Amino acid sequence: MSTRTLRIGLVGWRGMVGSVLMDRMAAEGDLAGAEPVFFSTSQVGQAAPDVGQGAAVLQDAHDAAAFAGLDIIVTCQGGAWTKSMYPQIRAAGWTGHWIDAASALRMADDAVIVLDPLNRHVMDEAFAAGTNTWVGGNCTVSLMLMGLGTLFQRGWVEWMTSMTYQAASGAGAKNMAELVSQMRKIGGDAAGLLDAPRTAALTLDRQVSTTLSSDGFPTANFGAPLAGSVLPWIDTLQPDGSTREELKGHVEANKILGLTPEVPIDGICVRVGAMRSHAQALTIKLTRDVPLADIEAAIADSTEWTEVITNDKAESLAKLTPAAVSGTLTIPVGRLRKLRMGPEYLTAFTVGDQLLWGAAEPIRRTLKILREHLGA
Ligand code: NAP
Repeated sequence: MSTRTLRIGLVGWRGMVGSVLMDRMAAEGDLAGAEPVFFSTSQVGQAAPDVGQGAAVLQDAHDAAAFAGLDIIVTCQGGAWTKSMYPQIRAAGWTGHWIDAASALRMADDAVIVLDPLNRHVMDEAFAAGTNTWVGGNCTVSLMLMGLGTLFQRGWVEWMTSMTYQAASGAGAKNMAELVSQMRKIGGDAAGLLDAPRTAALTLDRQVSTTLSSDGFPTANFGAPLAGSVLPWIDTLQPDGSTREELKGHVEANKILGLTPEVPIDGICVRVGAMRSHAQALTIKLTRDVPLADIEAAIADSTEWTEVITNDKAESLAKLTPAAVSGTLTIPVGRLRKLRMGPEYLTAFTVGDQLLWGAAEPIRRTLKILREHLGA
């Protein structure tokens, strides 16, 4: 039962991640008994969203002093805002709990990357030690760990490669719209051929190729056609030839689980024409020949959202696709089998909604956990 009313500042609540967070918090009643204060970088003074606690106006997210007196700040505003305002708000003497969806603070020594179904113990120990900066993980990393994190925790993984199939939503709202615009252009240009009774596949293919390379094809956000194609590059080049997205797979997964020594994780991150759910194909070198049945049982038991999918076609097509999981919290893991390289080589495929477990859900649950710790 609440002993005092927490004042919770919300920044970035109307963005894509923020909107999913608001929906989930409403569904779970997360703001009940608290006093939410809504901020904006662009709509200061306009009406704040009504979450059943009376009319209020949006506060100025660029004014560090406006955050004084809050117990918790939850932000989905983005890295630029965090980089600018976090130091200012802390420098003004604010010592409350900061919960952030952006990557800016993730690797800071005094920040915990939150994914409580896997690292609740890390979070609880950090809270007891005085940590007050909590950051959601990279979407692909969080989804991979929700599926297979238990294998690392059991010490079964010597190394892992992750080949990703990442949805348009990971690049932002404009990119989602661009993907659908690309689909519309392809479909529109090919409509006559599709409707004709005996169009040859190669004729259709020539038309699609012509559309993809045409001047008016919408690529302002992705920089290349995504519909009808794939993009083997996400984020910026690193000195070792990987991309920043690929680097995050290693550094964040190891930090989230607190693995020592670190377990090498690497691979290639690829953007595909899915809307909001990411998929990943994994190759795992096991530390020993763990029987497949034990692996399946461990995964099935790992979180209440993780589901093992039988390695057959009908089950995989019905349950192990972006289309099947979008809008749900389910994390299916399938295509589990030992590879012909030997009994210590495991392969797996996993999928998850990157706006839920990949973004909003760890943030929402961290707020709830902190409220429990704070007794409010
Ligand atoms: P976003 O949709 O671009 O929203 C960010 C801000 O843009 C909003 O809070 C809003 O701030 C402003 N905005 C301007 N015009 C808007 C409009 N028409 N509709 C809604 N908001 C508008 O950002 P996001 O994709 O949610 O990402 C937020 C953070 O989460 C980023 O750091 C991102 O890296 C991280 N993240 C994203 C994902 C993902 O899948 N996209 C996944 C994990 C983490 P004002 O109200 O102040 O104007």
